[in-house]
Amino acid sequence: GKINIAIDGPAGAGKSTVARMVAKALSYVYVDTGAMYRAVTWYMIKQGIKPEQVDLVLEKAKELNIELVPEETGQRVFLNGQDVTHEIRSIEVNGLVSRYAKIEGLRKMLVQMQRQMALRKGVVMDGRDIGTTVLPQAEVKIFMTATVKERALRRFKEMKDAEGITLEQLEHDIAERDRQDEQREISPLRRADDAIVLDTTRLTIDEVVDRIVSYCTI
Ligand code: C5P
Repeated sequence: GKINIAIDGPAGAGKSTVARMVAKALSYVYVDTGAMYRAVTWYMIKQGIKPEQVDLVLEKAKELNIELVPEETGQRVFLNGQDVTHEIRSIEVNGLVSRYAKIEGLRKMLVQMQRQMALRKGVVMDGRDIGTTVLPQAEVKIFMTATVKERALRRFKEMKDAEGITLEQLEHDIAERDRQDEQREISPLRRADDAIVLDTTRLTIDEVVDRIVSYCTI
């Protein structure tokens, strides 16, 4: 039968690439929960609502309809019907998403949606709190890590239109996002006790995917 797979870890560890490939290998559905926090963040920035305006954030968030539509290269993200797949990857969203992601009521809302998505098993879900909070019953839990330097370098190579952003700046941004995600009160970024830790610093993407698939098929 099908199982659920939780993949957590810090920013830039390669979770989304790996999760997408694992889902493809197993014919499972990939759910990128970071995209949900990003979509909310993009919308709030556009509306001029700051992360400190908690009540307003929660009120507006109720009006949002977030859809994740799987496709060959990953997933498209729709917010109230508008395709925001690319918009939610902006440097501005990167810089602010962790501040909105601290809001307890917002997390409750998104976690509930994420659990719904995993009711029918056969889901590979990536995020920060999947193994600890969203799907504590997931049959396979992976905690992917890599050094900050390596993660920044991977991001740097990915960014063809890096518009003047330096490797040092990326490293700083990633470290800052990790710090905020690890230190927040509500379901911080943490390895579940029963998660398998995969340090990917010296592994290729294919090696990581093969390992995870092997854990899922025994
Ligand atoms: O995975 P990604 O880097 O796109 O996630 C963006 C941000 O969304 C994270 O830095 C974190 O602040 C937040 N997030 C979260 N819980 C999740 C997924 C993402 O708090 N399950």
